[in-house]
Amino acid sequence: MSLAASRDIRTLAHFIAGRFVPPVAGTYVEDVAPATGAVIARLPRGDAADVGAAVEAARGAIDHGWRRSSTAERAELCEAIAARIEHRLDELAALESHDTGKPLALARRVDIPRAVANFRFFAGAVRHHATEMHEMQGAINYTLRRPLGVVGLITPWNLPLYLLTWKCAPALAMGNSVVAKPSELTPLTAAALAEIFLEAGAPAGVFNLVHGLGAEAGAALVEHADVAAVSFTGGTATGARVAAAAAPLFKKLSLELGGKNPTLVFADCDFEAAVEGSLLAGFLNQGQVCLCGSRILVERAIHDRFVDALVERVRAMRVGDPADEATCLGALVGLEHRDKVERYLQLARDDGGQVHGGARPDLPPPFDRGAFLQPAVVTGLPHSCRFVQEEIFGPVVSVHPFDDEEEAVTLANDVRYGLSASLWTRDLERAHRVSARLETGMVWVNTWLLRDLRVPFGGAKQSGVGREGGRWSLEFFSEARNVCIQLENKKP
Ligand code: NAD
Repeated sequence: MSLAASRDIRTLAHFIAGRFVPPVAGTYVEDVAPATGAVIARLPRGDAADVGAAVEAARGAIDHGWRRSSTAERAELCEAIAARIEHRLDELAALESHDTGKPLALARRVDIPRAVANFRFFAGAVRHHATEMHEMQGAINYTLRRPLGVVGLITPWNLPLYLLTWKCAPALAMGNSVVAKPSELTPLTAAALAEIFLEAGAPAGVFNLVHGLGAEAGAALVEHADVAAVSFTGGTATGARVAAAAAPLFKKLSLELGGKNPTLVFADCDFEAAVEGSLLAGFLNQGQVCLCGSRILVERAIHDRFVDALVERVRAMRVGDPADEATCLGALVGLEHRDKVERYLQLARDDGGQVHGGARPDLPPPFDRGAFLQPAVVTGLPHSCRFVQEEIFGPVVSVHPFDDEEEAVTLANDVRYGLSASLWTRDLERAHRVSARLETGMVWVNTWLLRDLRVPFGGAKQSGVGREGGRWSLEFFSEARNVCIQLENKKP
């Protein structure tokens, strides 16, 4: 059964050994469009049997030739996949917007082009990849990088195709075969990616896709003895479960987890640029990007002016139909998630915060049943309260004054997360000094989300373990083997 054939009834299938197949147990879960509440697809409720078949197919692909594929062949496959994603950009953007509730324009401008860029980038990266040589007196060492085998890729709902391709491209480029488990909330573009692998003539079993719930299909993938490595992106609590399951099996693990990222605004900044940057960092994708700056720390001298400017701009953000070009914010991923964000807003009120915005918008049908929420700015909260300390992952930010650089750094580091930070200042020395003291994996200065795919991406503290991106991804998806050759006939 191909995805295209089943499109009318929107019943998705696993993709195993180059074929679309129904779940062994025959059970499905519903996929709901967050903007309307309509059921748009049924996806297989995969379990250990489906995962087992996918892992076997992935193993088979390695044994049947993928192991011997050349770097050029793998790079060409990545380029072919990139070209096909690009060719289907409008369709994929529509699927992504429909499935996540995000603005169509955002999916068209960011999500899908970045999926193309991921495959293109890693095609180039693997072609140019070099390993190390260490010379000794009378001997040389060189490092071989060998594929790990079957790797499991587990991805969240906020950037579905973007994050799946971010893992899939380097995994394949390094000669592994893949079993992917996308979020059960947003399976559509992963299903389309499987179609693209089929169209591109990828060897059967090199890319496999198992749909299903995290605690079932996801857990089965992590626990499978023949899965050599797991690259996981998702929440910190889930990451802890994945790590606990993988540890006794000594799997290689990459964990990209949650964040509660600070935006530090110093009085010497370019004020307009800092307000615009904080707005983007706070609310892009309805605040559902792991890198979103949800704690805005502002030097007291400009705090009140900053809050007024931010609130004014937040009030002007248009919330509604994701397909409308004028829409700034679409729907949150679901009603349950909106309830969670609203509970946090109530907590903020209970803790004495002033909430500017945060109401449910009054939208016409069918969007009156969607998971929409007006963006909110919260002021007057102690930094220790739950709204400020916990990841909410919605269109809500808190703003806090600080008196000097020391206090700014202390507040910025005062959470259990450490993914990213952005700071706004015209003082170059301060930029270097503060960047060096922030306990995060990434720091942006006078910008946010500017991405170079060669740089290390990942978090400190409870935001993750390991780095992906550029050579870090190529190294994660391969095993280093040192070869030592004695050149002179000397006793060791
Ligand atoms: P989640 O942790 O609920 O789910 C992520 C994935 O893990 C899904 O595919 C899910 O089905 C699967 N899963 C759930 N339980 C599992 C288990 N026991 N074993 C194996 N797999 C399991 O996260 P989410 O709600 O989909 O995504 C939002 C979270 O992702 C936020 O915390 C966000 O910060 C984080 N995120 C992090 C990054 C990053 O790069 N650091 C990027 C995007 C999102």
